[in-house]
Amino acid sequence: MFRVGLGWDIHRLVPLRPFRIGGVTIPADRGEWGHSDGDVLAHAVIDALLGAAALGDIGEFFPPEAPEWQDADSLGLLAAAYAQVRSQGWRLVNLDCLVICETPKILPWREAIRASLAETLALAPGAVMVKGKTYEGMGSVGEGLAVEAQAVALLERAGRPDDR
Ligand SMILES: [Zn+2]
Repeated sequence: MFRVGLGWDIHRLVPLRPFRIGGVTIPADRGEWGHSDGDVLAHAVIDALLGAAALGDIGEFFPPEAPEWQDADSLGLLAAAYAQVRSQGWRLVNLDCLVICETPKILPWREAIRASLAETLALAPGAVMVKGKTYEGMGSVGEGLAVEAQAVALLERAGRPDDR
């Protein structure tokens, strides 16, 4: 059987923080504010995985007030979340992602981001897609105040007749 999950996240952009997308640090004049490293795409993928498996959300697994997640590497959080998903018998089939920001351009970093997520999730890079978008200058993301990410994940599990 298959299950699909949706993830979304947004982080404010502030000076003197790294701009981390899917585990890749992209040169930029600002980066994500956050309790962890602020990796907006990793967080959206975590919610897509947890959502598809109906296990909860990132805030329950990694509470922002918990000191152990201070400046945490979000790829480590992603690997831990996927381990929980796998422990329920689920396997990730593919991942499709959007990163929405005015600058910098995501395309030059796309292959590195795909490879980073694929390695973390033990997937072939061909099973991970990442697209960059903008808000064409509109709203908080368009004004460069924030970066947003969305992810859709498909999980597969060997079916049992009583699965719901
Ligand atoms: Zn986040």
